[in-house]
Amino acid sequence: MSELADFLRSRLGVGAHVIDDSDALAPYAHDESGIGRFVPTCAVQARHAEDVQAVLAVSRERRVPVIPRGAGTGKAGAALAEQGGIVLSLERMNRILEISPEDGVAVVEPGVILKTLMDAVEARGLFYPPDPNSLNACSIGGNIAHNAGGPRALKYGVTADYVLGLKAVLPSGELIRTGHRSIKGVAGLDLTHLIVGSEGTLAIVVEATLQLLPLPRRVETGLALFPSEAHAAQAVLNIFADGHLPRACELFDAASMRLVTPKAPFKFPEGVGGALLFEFDGNGDQVADELVRAGELCTAAGALTVLAAQSDAQRRQMWETRRLVSVAMMEAKPHKISEDVAVPRGKLVEMIAEARRIGERHGIATASYGHAGDGNLHVNLLFNSAAERAAGQAAIDEVLRAALALGGTITGEHGVGIAKRAFLPLELGAEVMALQRRLKAAFDPENLLNPGKVLG
Ligand SMILES: Cc1cc2nc3c(=O)[nH]c(=O)nc-3n(C[C@H](O)[C@H](O)[C@H](O)COP(=O)(O)OP(=O)(O)OC[C@H]3O[C@@H](n4cnc5c(N)ncnc54)[C@H](O)[C@@H]3O)c2cc1C
Repeated sequence: MSELADFLRSRLGVGAHVIDDSDALAPYAHDESGIGRFVPTCAVQARHAEDVQAVLAVSRERRVPVIPRGAGTGKAGAALAEQGGIVLSLERMNRILEISPEDGVAVVEPGVILKTLMDAVEARGLFYPPDPNSLNACSIGGNIAHNAGGPRALKYGVTADYVLGLKAVLPSGELIRTGHRSIKGVAGLDLTHLIVGSEGTLAIVVEATLQLLPLPRRVETGLALFPSEAHAAQAVLNIFADGHLPRACELFDAASMRLVTPKAPFKFPEGVGGALLFEFDGNGDQVADELVRAGELCTAAGALTVLAAQSDAQRRQMWETRRLVSVAMMEAKPHKISEDVAVPRGKLVEMIAEARRIGERHGIATASYGHAGDGNLHVNLLFNSAAERAAGQAAIDEVLRAALALGGTITGEHGVGIAKRAFLPLELGAEVMALQRRLKAAFDPENLLNPGKVLG
């Protein structure tokens, strides 16, 4: 039993969920980054905004860090209690407060699991497009904090594009409302989108108003198999050059296909070196026409086979195969590092080739896959041991620098957290780093909210 936990219990009152038992704390000690285990002094499962305010009051009084946490699926270590302190879990604040077809909005608490929200809005003929592949597990609060994206970001954008307004608690304990419920609204500085993507370092989100779209009535999905990933990447460029905007366009290289095939419902045949999963949506027959045309463009780019899903079941199999890539890779190569660089689409072929060259130079196997349509590539360095991983830092460094040299970014969606903070100055430069530090200090002058993350 920790003294801090008892103090929190006394402040939070009857029915509070304060955890300080070491077994019960274990799930709060890690995330999906593979960075390591950091056991917090205690964890609190907030029930409402008042709990969040009370925890932040204790943080100020005792000068202990508070680390907000959603579902712990983050890949940048941003929810880890690196400096100890209180993990503040939002998992119990998981109510969908409202779905309004009339206004086209949903109002939710941060702990709602993304798939739960998607299913609830789709049952009403509405659509919430952001679809990170962790959708069965990740929370809306975590999506907002990391500005998560997914395959459909290509056509529909990322989480930020759907956050209209927030209720958030500042480190001072003040409960603020930002943004609006209307689709448009430009009054004052856009604090909503400053908090979105801030990785829990500026404020704790306790409610979000999200924009919804009408649910597209028709979705068509295709899978093209190529001799190499370069052929697949070229097909992506051809599809856009011909004037099409798929809602998703996902690339697999040979190593990704080899690793996922034993686990996946779709078995990639031997000898295939690259694949493209592409999808169109809309309301009329032109959706099917576009799929056919994209298939022809793949063939023109050298595709060996082009498959079109003939049923929802086949469509689900193709997507299940895509979603299993990360999981299969982690199981086969637990010491792997997954970078999520993004480059301008025109540089995709170069980025894939550069990742492969870096791997070869360092004697490290690589596997690349991801959201090719928006240039966001998951470059995996497949280390065989923790020692190899520690020694492979130079290769990681080179992958990130290569993305920057091609006009890209060190992270397309996973965020900076702990994993990439050393590289952030390379991308932002000294002036912008200093400005960002001043902004952090304006929100959190005592540096108690998720300290050390993002800006170091
Ligand atoms: C198999 C797999 C596939 C993935 N695929 C994708 C993908 O396609 N696209 C993508 O973008 N990401 C992907 N991710 C990464 C991850 O799922 C996302 O970053 C997700 O948004 C994290 O949500 P979470 O609820 O798990 O957040 P956590 O990991 O718990 O926390 C992440 C960050 O959010 C902060 N936070 C959480 N809740 C709040 C809150 N209420 N207020 C303020 N800060 C808060 C935390 O402090 C931390 O900084 C994937 C992860 C896995 C394991």
